[in-house]
Amino acid sequence: MRHISRTQMTELLSHPIFRQIGQVADGMGMECYVVGGFVRDLFLERPSKDIDCVVVGSGIAVAQTLGKTLGRGAHVSVFRNFGTAQVKWRNIEVEFVGARRESYQRDSRKPIVEDGTLEDDLDRRDFTINALAVCLNEQRFGELVDRFQGLLDMEDRIIATPLDPDITFSDDPLRMMRCVRFATQLRFQIEEETAEALERNADRIKIISQERIIDELNKIIASPQPSIGFVELSRCGLLPLIFPELSKLEGVETRNGRAHKDNFFHTLEVLDNVARKTDNLWLRWAALLHDIGKPRSKRWEPVAGWTFHNHNYIGSRMTPDIFRRMKLPLDERMKYVQKLVDLHMRPIAIADAEVTDSAVRRLLFEAGEDIDDLMTLCEADITSKNQQKKQHFLDNFRLVREKLADLQARDNYRTWQNPITGEEIMQTFHLQPCKEIGILKQLVKDAIWESQIPNTYEAARDYMMEKAKEMGLTTENK
Ligand code: ATP
Ligand code: MG
Repeated sequence: MRHISRTQMTELLSHPIFRQIGQVADGMGMECYVVGGFVRDLFLERPSKDIDCVVVGSGIAVAQTLGKTLGRGAHVSVFRNFGTAQVKWRNIEVEFVGARRESYQRDSRKPIVEDGTLEDDLDRRDFTINALAVCLNEQRFGELVDRFQGLLDMEDRIIATPLDPDITFSDDPLRMMRCVRFATQLRFQIEEETAEALERNADRIKIISQERIIDELNKIIASPQPSIGFVELSRCGLLPLIFPELSKLEGVETRNGRAHKDNFFHTLEVLDNVARKTDNLWLRWAALLHDIGKPRSKRWEPVAGWTFHNHNYIGSRMTPDIFRRMKLPLDERMKYVQKLVDLHMRPIAIADAEVTDSAVRRLLFEAGEDIDDLMTLCEADITSKNQQKKQHFLDNFRLVREKLADLQARDNYRTWQNPITGEEIMQTFHLQPCKEIGILKQLVKDAIWESQIPNTYEAARDYMMEKAKEMGLTTENK
């Protein structure tokens, strides 16, 4: 990979748009390069959506001329404030910018920007693997510019900053999140000095907006093995700053020789387990938060030892605050996470005891359409090292799943409605609103859910009459 030839590079850039761009730039007497993430992903054979081009000169002018050359079907948007322009053509988007030099002030990640050379432009980039450029001008088409041995780092699977990492991170602390994110997404090692600089500069994250931080955090969570990122965030000291609740799960306490498990590592194991099953970001968030209430519910009890009573409930109560602070959506996605955190102990409680119809029905009723996701979370939650214990739970979960399927087939409990309404009870027994109506409805519901009577109107009506009689209600008009 290191000795990639121009011919090989030309093949990688086989899309006709690249030659077009080169010709336009030639015509204007400017150098033009494709740079950054797009070049990195070419080498890593990752799909990449956005193509970034740097022009030594005016990016906007090249974009506009390119738009004219491509003619109808091409769409150019100019962002004067940023000095950038975007060309959309067929199914691709190319972003143009002039090569720039940046200098930073301490209290902001917004640099002072001046026109610069290609070298200046590559120097301001965050990592060596992101600082590659390929020339598009006709004469030098496919020539790679690699000032910081980015290709070598890609081969060695290393994330390193091009210049002094302390300056790179202090200038724009968002790069620390990007560093951990790339290490997680690509499964690359963070180079030693870069890793040490993360520790020294962690505190600088405070000048970064939460919107930027959560973007990167979500990319970590969406990675194939998210734990890599969280272990790194913890190691370098970013975790307590950006996610204190999760950080508080770290550590083990021992009393009278009895230790509880490290809930941080347990949580990461559950998250990785879930990630192996699904790309659903919110189910992954539910995994991350499932035990978040443990530190607040932790007690030492002389006989039982360490307990975490109600940690599921406490965790679900903490969820909206966490979502609000993290700038995550406060809509049904938050409610979904909250519900899964709240219910995550239920299947295990059922599986631990006898798997009865009524218990499974109740669960089905509460979880509704999210029942499958809840089961996925709960299966991922079995991280016991004791194989026998683990197998016992997994077997019982299979039983719960079978019963769920069975019940769902028999009666659609997700949208279950009591066949007996309050109206009917009031009319039949000539009642004004009173508590007997609720009691009677509940009795009917319980009878159906406990499988004492079938889930039909006739059976429910008969049962209601029988129970009403016992309660002393009469159908005669007084
Ligand atoms: P992805 O598209 O997967 O998020 P990327 O590396 O392509 O990753 P972009 O935000 O698309 O990230 O940025 C494109 C390029 O711009 C990067 O490869 C890098 O060279 C440069 N870049 C982006 N953000 C920064 C930053 N904060 N500091 C320095 N350079 C950056
Ligand atoms: Mg990109």
